[in-house]
Amino acid sequence: MSIARIPFDNTYARELEGFYVPWKGAEVPAPKMIRFNGALAEELGLDAAALATEAGAAIFAGHTAPEGASPLAMAYAGHQFGGFSPQLGDGRALLLGEVIDTKGERRDIHLKGSGRTPFSRGGDGKAVLGPVLREYVIGEAMHALGVPTTRALAAVTTGERILRQDGPAPGAVLARVASSHLRVGTFQYFAARGETERLRQLADYAIARHYPELAGQDGRYLGLLGAVRDRQAALIAAWMHLGFVHGVMNTDNMTISGETIDYGPCAFIDAYDPAAVFSSIDAQGRYAYGNQPQIAQWNLARLAETLLDLINPDDSDDAVRQASEVINLFPLAYERAWLKGLRLKLGLAGEEEGDRELGEALLAVMETGAADFTRVFRSLSKAAAGEGDATRALFGETAQIDAWLAAYQARLARDPGSAAERAAAMDRVNPVYIPRNHMVEAALQSATRGDLAPFERLVDVLADPFTVRAGLEVFALGAPTGFGPYTTFCGT
Ligand code: AMP
Ligand code: MG
Repeated sequence: MSIARIPFDNTYARELEGFYVPWKGAEVPAPKMIRFNGALAEELGLDAAALATEAGAAIFAGHTAPEGASPLAMAYAGHQFGGFSPQLGDGRALLLGEVIDTKGERRDIHLKGSGRTPFSRGGDGKAVLGPVLREYVIGEAMHALGVPTTRALAAVTTGERILRQDGPAPGAVLARVASSHLRVGTFQYFAARGETERLRQLADYAIARHYPELAGQDGRYLGLLGAVRDRQAALIAAWMHLGFVHGVMNTDNMTISGETIDYGPCAFIDAYDPAAVFSSIDAQGRYAYGNQPQIAQWNLARLAETLLDLINPDDSDDAVRQASEVINLFPLAYERAWLKGLRLKLGLAGEEEGDRELGEALLAVMETGAADFTRVFRSLSKAAAGEGDATRALFGETAQIDAWLAAYQARLARDPGSAAERAAAMDRVNPVYIPRNHMVEAALQSATRGDLAPFERLVDVLADPFTVRAGLEVFALGAPTGFGPYTTFCGT
């Protein structure tokens, strides 16, 4: 059998000395592979067969460092629920290294739950199985739903029992893949220390890695800010169109690449509700579903602050003015991305002035009727074809949705798109299967008790969220009555 080798090319370790602490994972009693993402491994150009083994489990547990790895804990800061912590960093994670995937893209392989580091503060550096599998299943679902996201490469258990709030739980590590782990908080770390030259190095590294078209240009730091703004605007619009609530949009959980990162207390809404909050620690609703666009802008303003010295070192007023202009365009960038996504969801090929209002009117009807967001949108391909019953059935009181459906029909009658292609196109953006909270919860509880079958099945179903398959009806339903208000906990 071939040896579990990973062809690393570690630019972060090589080029950014002082931005991290070289570190090793903790040794653990019994690394065991729980789920290995062979397709992703192949996409990364790795030897999937050699890694889907005990040797692979030891590597992805952080127990053994593979040849060529230069594992390190990254330094970063962050605003958590609005309050600034100048030093967070990888307290229970390691960047194992980078590989070049089969498309030529650089990807980080990172371990979460691999033991204490110099950034651990009071924490134990560990992760437990439930949250590791939650990140696995939801991250992979988001990818299948077409959302930029970190990916799950492997979930392993360590053989330890880790003490958590509700008793001991199986220790686990998630190996995840990201186009990088650069965060808004990474910039904040060096800005807070007044290390302008390191910030410049970091910004140039981020540009080379994610926005190479800006490299070497005079206005590149302002350009970087604008580019991150646009990626984040598109990302948040995609979340909103799927009913995704991240739950902990701290600046250390916002990437420079525009990928979703850190699936802790995240959840999907069932009934449409802009005020939906699931996280146990978000008492104020700061990160409620409907607040996410404003929070993204707030986070981008924190990124902007870190770049002022680079934007104009000689005139801080001018730097503030330029950066503000970029950030103030976030609502417009978001609105554009949201409207584009809305037209796809409604099957509108053309553009009319009133499209936004049409979409907002649907959301208002859904809010009044507490209708299931995912199911309503999925039903619209039938409504567009003149069969509104599936949509109507999702509302108790139908007067408002009937009026909306009439307005929708009138709009469709003016649309230049072909009715024949419309339904299929809509069904490619309005999922039938999403990671329903009650399904995720049941799968994780089973897994923690030792039965992985529901988790495996959920991952498999969610790998193709847009195609209706016989026998999967239960995965397409909303929360059962009695599931009650759902609370999520930070991934510890
Ligand atoms: P998160 O909420 O996962 O985004 O983490 C926020 C910060 O807390 C990061 O610096 C983490 O590394 C750190 N952290 C979270 N859980 C632990 C833990 N069990 N041990 C050490 N550090 C942790
Ligand atoms: Mg985090």
